[in-house]
Amino acid sequence: MNPTLIRNGVIVTMNKRREILRGDLRISDGKIAALAPHLPAEKQDTVVDARGGFVIPGLVQAHTHLCQTLFRGWADDLELLDWLERRIWPMENAHDAESMRVSARIGLMEMQLLGTTSILDMGSVDFHDSVFSEAEKSGMRYWGGNCLMDLKAASGPLFRPTKDTLEYSESLIQRWHGKVDRIQYAVSPRFAISCTEEILRASVALRKKHKLIFHTHASENRGEIRIVKKRTGLDNIKYLNKLGCLGPSSVIAHGIHLSRSEVTDIVKTRTGITHCPSSNLKLASGIARIAEYRKRKVKLAFGADGAPCNNMMDPFMEMRLAALLQKPIFGPTAMPAMEAFEIATLGGARVLNAEDRIGSLEQGKCADVVIVRRDHPSSATVDDPYSALVYSVSGRDVSHVWIAGRGIVSEGRHQIYEQESVIEDARSQMHKLKSRIKVKSAHRR
Ligand SMILES: [Zn+2]
Repeated sequence: MNPTLIRNGVIVTMNKRREILRGDLRISDGKIAALAPHLPAEKQDTVVDARGGFVIPGLVQAHTHLCQTLFRGWADDLELLDWLERRIWPMENAHDAESMRVSARIGLMEMQLLGTTSILDMGSVDFHDSVFSEAEKSGMRYWGGNCLMDLKAASGPLFRPTKDTLEYSESLIQRWHGKVDRIQYAVSPRFAISCTEEILRASVALRKKHKLIFHTHASENRGEIRIVKKRTGLDNIKYLNKLGCLGPSSVIAHGIHLSRSEVTDIVKTRTGITHCPSSNLKLASGIARIAEYRKRKVKLAFGADGAPCNNMMDPFMEMRLAALLQKPIFGPTAMPAMEAFEIATLGGARVLNAEDRIGSLEQGKCADVVIVRRDHPSSATVDDPYSALVYSVSGRDVSHVWIAGRGIVSEGRHQIYEQESVIEDARSQMHKLKSRIKVKSAHRR
């Protein structure tokens, strides 16, 4: 890989002093080698002119489902439990290795084109090798794993026996965890409803044994909380805490309906929460009190969740919505643009325990770098970078993306995938998947 010199940018560093630097940034050997008002071009440099655009740290989405990308638009206007049982689980169950691969591929391509450089991803119960191999190919910085669903009465067609699913997880860890340093396995019990106590405890043990990120959904929906309470006698977070599921390597997606004492548990254990505002609105789940969590020092990240509950995978949309949604609750100064931007960058890095490598543009950190154009009328006159990035631009303004110094997107075109053929394959696999669901439901009748 040749060194890259990015010229003429407004560099939003997110370093400790939150410096905004007008100038140049050099990428070499996968790392950020230098930032300065002017860096001389060296002979072997690939020079990219940012033309006054924003040069920002790659955005982190700490809750996604690549396995669901093909289901976009098939599951609109439903609340969580119906959405899962009537649509998503039967669709996940209809995957084969190839449809899973294509679903991951188009999801990765979409997210990278929109400025995402790191994701924490929850898979389905099978075919996660397809997701890992595509994540490796795409250049994405990836944490993820197969999801665990071993409570027969509450897992629909995705039920898998405890022992089988844990053996599968171990085999994925052997094949993929740390295969390259940007590919990491994350142990992913789907949610308390679909998991036995045994598998939750086993997940905690796996987290410890292999030093993994632990990733689950919790307290997204009031019906979900009622089911967990009925079965365990405890509120969701209290139950997870009792089993040892919270902790500095644990990430809870959503965490909308939490008692004060549950938030205290989250803070004390240094558990991360991924806020997914689009998904929370679309599934009518509620609005998480993020401004309050932030005051209480909860580690926060954002995520677009899955394509069928959003239906975009745009990290800029999540920042914007997160900032806007807090204001009617807590007042106009809640969640200013800079805070939202910090959650999307450093926040995500902290939740994944990767702040030493990603989340800001500083010398020596991994070169996960994005350029956002400023030539659209909606942002061209906005001088405050945070205001522009959070309130005025969208992922479709992203022109360039590097991950670990490798050029992934250039002038808005993906450099690894041929966009048209990825879309063509996705269409074809989606139709095949649809016909498999029809066959399966016909058999049931
Ligand atoms: Zn989710």
